[in-house]
Amino acid sequence: MALIPLVKAPDPRLKKVSEPIAVGDIDKTLRRFMDDMLETMYDANGIGLAAIQIGVLKRVTVIDLDPGGPNSKPLYIINPVIVASSTEESTYNEGCLSVPEYWDDVHRPARITVEYLDENAKKQRVEADGLFATCLQHEIDHINGFLFIDHLSKLRRSIALRKSAKAKRLDQD
Ligand SMILES: [Zn+2]
Repeated sequence: MALIPLVKAPDPRLKKVSEPIAVGDIDKTLRRFMDDMLETMYDANGIGLAAIQIGVLKRVTVIDLDPGGPNSKPLYIINPVIVASSTEESTYNEGCLSVPEYWDDVHRPARITVEYLDENAKKQRVEADGLFATCLQHEIDHINGFLFIDHLSKLRRSIALRKSAKAKRLDQD
């Protein structure tokens, strides 16, 4: 397994729409790539990571809501689609490995149903609420070229981007 450098905002790649994975391409190579994504995510203390966050424009994301904890369960999610969402919303203070040093409240549907393919190309359907629903929507946003800060006001978004740009600069020094 390998750690891969994270793409951080502002970066034009984070605004691109990722490409679907063909069922025939769900193989050991993709599984190994997703294991690298998981390792990179764990190393950065994240609970979700989309492929574009390591510069790969594929509709792939990994999630583990309790890394290193008793409920740790890595999920390999390919071509996810939200097929239903509740009108009721919930609010969560979100952060993102691609927007360092910034957290803010985001309102999203409280419950969603998502269909996707797992690492064995098996179709899965999950009904999610709580942190899981938030995380899935956050990662599916990445796949569609959006960041959590795109849900905020213009002012808050520009503060977030300034902080991220500064953190990125300090990182490179
Ligand atoms: Zn993110």
